[in-house]
Amino acid sequence: MTLDELIQRVEAARLRRSEHLIVQIVAVTKYTDKIEPLLKLYNEGQRAFGENRVQDMEKKVKALEEYPIEWHFIGNLQKNKINKLLSLNPFMIQSINSYELAEAIDKRTKKKINCLLEINSSGEPTKHGLEPQRAIDTYLKIKENLKNINLKGIMTIGAHTDDEKEIRKSFRLTYNIFEKLKPYGAKICSMGMSGDFEIAIEEGSNMIRVGSALLKSYM
Ligand SMILES: *Cc1c(COP(=O)(O)O)cnc(C)c1O
Repeated sequence: MTLDELIQRVEAARLRRSEHLIVQIVAVTKYTDKIEPLLKLYNEGQRAFGENRVQDMEKKVKALEEYPIEWHFIGNLQKNKINKLLSLNPFMIQSINSYELAEAIDKRTKKKINCLLEINSSGEPTKHGLEPQRAIDTYLKIKENLKNINLKGIMTIGAHTDDEKEIRKSFRLTYNIFEKLKPYGAKICSMGMSGDFEIAIEEGSNMIRVGSALLKSYM
């Protein structure tokens, strides 16, 4: 799928939800270690890129230093990689999955950093992210205590299944948490990947992270 094709599908999905919904696209580039596919996407207008490994992100950030790109970190962040990640000046860390991780980042960063709280909305034990029941308390505790963590909303990975009902359920659960957090300033509900972004948008997502389906056309 090309970027234009993706944009058209996003457009159709968002109109099924609401004409007022605006959906941002993060192009997940973890499937390639080449720079050329990223440049092609850039030249077609893409500005937000996502990576899930600090080391891979470092190479790409350095190679594309001159370009005004927003880098989103979306992977599981080990504490010993925090300093390295911060040195790359990411636009956003989407994968804050515990208070402790937020605290460790808060201590090490010298300026406010945009973050999302990751929620495990499918209950799958292999997935990172906070249990939904703890999401709101943790969100508020981070907001209250950690001044360098600029929480902008939440992120989730949908249920890993072909059962559309289950996928929808995990997105709906996440959106309900997002609604409860809106009075506290939550603006971003990041959900939806290659296989399920249309369902996610129908359930209210305003940021999708699309990798494999998009990158294939550029590699
Ligand atoms: C890999 C990844 C994506 C993109 O997945 P695709 O199915 O390839 O679109 C999105 N979000 C996270 C957190 C990922 O790790």
